[in-house]
Amino acid sequence: MSMRVAIIGAGMAGLSCAERLVAGGHQVTLFDKGRGPGGRMATRRLDTPLGQVTCDMGAQYFTLRDPDFAARVAHWEATGVVARWPAMGDDAWVGTPAMNAPLRAMADAGDVRWGTRIDAIAWRVDGWDLQAGDAVHGGFEAVVIAVPAEQVPALVEPWVPAFAAQARATPSLPCWTVLAVFDAVLPIGDAPVRRAGIIDFAARGASKPGRGEVEAWTVHATADWSAVHLEDEAGEVQAAVLAALGEVAGVALPAPVVATAHRWRFARSGAVGCEALWDRATGIGVCGDWLSGPRVESAWVSGRRLAEVLG
Ligand code: FAD
Repeated sequence: MSMRVAIIGAGMAGLSCAERLVAGGHQVTLFDKGRGPGGRMATRRLDTPLGQVTCDMGAQYFTLRDPDFAARVAHWEATGVVARWPAMGDDAWVGTPAMNAPLRAMADAGDVRWGTRIDAIAWRVDGWDLQAGDAVHGGFEAVVIAVPAEQVPALVEPWVPAFAAQARATPSLPCWTVLAVFDAVLPIGDAPVRRAGIIDFAARGASKPGRGEVEAWTVHATADWSAVHLEDEAGEVQAAVLAALGEVAGVALPAPVVATAHRWRFARSGAVGCEALWDRATGIGVCGDWLSGPRVESAWVSGRRLAEVLG
């Protein structure tokens, strides 16, 4: 039976769920507070004296272990929105020309209302209403919640308290991310930097397919360091993280032509230990990385499995 389904959150999990539901004949509308596709696979465009540079700000690559996800990625590869990232190894893939490219492809094929933050959901006689500021989007038979764990309780608490409790028990780790563009190549090489001092992961943009030649780096600080410095000024964080990158390079870095720092309060999720949650009595489902692990692949699988349960 075809249902009208609202999905709150158009990241990898929400879009994966939508794609499968639409294939099953359901009418699906997605709502996302962001201005465009990304979520935690967001990219940031920087205006620099060297031209516009697009940096991957969240996830740097993804793996393919689930056979269904591998099949989906093969299709994305054929349409040019993903490619292998050899500098990271055999099982590393990235969106092309930027990390959010597969999300954009899925969103373009669906009905996504960007810039729409859902504040609450409420059951009315003829279905679910979604409250977005003063606007109400109504008449849905099912609601899928595909947002980070910390943002789940506000939406589900009155309707399925058990889901809210599971989300509260599964906190995410924070991450400070610094994006920096240089006018000279840093003496580090193409292999990503992993676990070096306060750096958790650092990637050279030009080492990824489709990014161009400009020397742009994305540097994620470790979760421990980010937690301690979460409320620091962005400028202080930028200086500390770039000093750490200089230590990796073994030389004093040139001043970046452009740099910026982004605070992810909820970066890497925990894991409940299941793939999706569905409450048949209310018609509320939950998907997202925080159910099975902090990875792009887990988010996609979670959305897919929830859609399969809905039928
Ligand atoms: P999200 O991508 O967070 O999507 C949720 C969406 O919900 C967002 O678009 C948000 O705008 C929207 N939203 C939230 N609340 C509301 C609301 N009330 N109303 C409307 N919309 C709302 N994974 C890897 O596999 N490899 C990596 O290298 C990697 N590195 C990472 C590094 C960082 C710094 C971060 C932040 C994440 C990283 N991850 C990595 C994890 C990966 O990005 C996530 O697991 C995955 O993208 C989660 O997808 P999701 O759809 O569950 O959630």
